[in-house]
Amino acid sequence: MTKEECSEIFAKLPEYLDGDLPPDVCESVAAHIEECGPCVAFVESLRKSVALSRKAAAGIEQAELKAEVKARLAEAYEQFRASGA
Ligand SMILES: [Zn+2]
Repeated sequence: MTKEECSEIFAKLPEYLDGDLPPDVCESVAAHIEECGPCVAFVESLRKSVALSRKAAAGIEQAELKAEVKARLAEAYEQFRASGA
């Protein structure tokens, strides 16, 4: 696993978690995540924050919610890189 691979995966995660990716791309993301420890941990924490923001955001526009999720993703990704994982 390389950091470049992980970066590509991270870029696709909002769509992945939303189920918006084409099946083949979705599969390659899932395959990477299964074999990459840091990504597993990252996806788990991202899933939780997505679930939380969904709960908190009942009634907010879908587009607004996606922007929120992307902002959280960027934030979490910075923390992930800073942790040196
Ligand atoms: Zn990875």
